[in-house]
Amino acid sequence: MTGPGHPPAGAGPAEGELLALCDACHNPVADGRGEVWVTARELADHHRAMHHWERQNPGPARTVGAILAQPPAVRWHVTHHHAACAGLLPADAHAFGVEHCRTWAGLADRTRLLAGHDWLADTDWDTLLDDARNGAGRRITPAPGHHAP
Ligand SMILES: [Zn+2]
Repeated sequence: MTGPGHPPAGAGPAEGELLALCDACHNPVADGRGEVWVTARELADHHRAMHHWERQNPGPARTVGAILAQPPAVRWHVTHHHAACAGLLPADAHAFGVEHCRTWAGLADRTRLLAGHDWLADTDWDTLLDDARNGAGRRITPAPGHHAP
């Protein structure tokens, strides 16, 4: 087991089954060199927006227009932590190192951990998983030669 911030010498992004691609520079993020994160502020903003939307569009019957106007889920960011891409994460970030989701097993473990948070459903973690499964080439995506099992 290798701790974050101490990647083994020579460990490159190509060694995992999955690549973490940086939102800012679109290059793979090596283990220990970046994070996957959302901020508490983004979650709070989403919560407020949902509350407002529910008041504007009381249920249970809602129009298609109302449903389409629903606030989008909070997007998970994947970034290098050097200044050119993200720099220091906000103090309120819920973050984990990319090394935790460089294998399918790691991604499953991380999903199980995140599921303990009631805010997970407010985020687009499901989209991140779908994109990984479908090899969409965004955020978490299979490394060359490592298609979804
Ligand atoms: Zn980057």
